[in-house]
Amino acid sequence: MDSDNGIGKGNGNGNSLYSHLWSNGGPPRQITQDGRTLVHHRCVRCGRDFALELDGSGWHALYVGLLRIELLAESVNQRWLAEKCPGLPLWDKDREDRATRKDSNQT
Ligand SMILES: [Zn+2]
Repeated sequence: MDSDNGIGKGNGNGNSLYSHLWSNGGPPRQITQDGRTLVHHRCVRCGRDFALELDGSGWHALYVGLLRIELLAESVNQRWLAEKCPGLPLWDKDREDRATRKDSNQT
């Protein structure tokens, strides 16, 4: 418990995030992309990716690509943040969710 990893902070969606098991093999991966800084967390049980955005906007559901990370659609984002960890990968179900993207024109 040397540092606060930010889980539980943000916009009030933190409780379900506690049910995930974050990989703790090292410090969280910090990503800077398009002028935004996010701390990436991947659950080792369900494989879902989340990031805490350090500008205070809270948690986002993510797709992590080879070159970029992408925020998922708001509908998926809200569901993933609200759901407790399914405890195992839901690849078929989550594949559709991961194919969504947050509308970049939306603020
Ligand atoms: Zn999980």
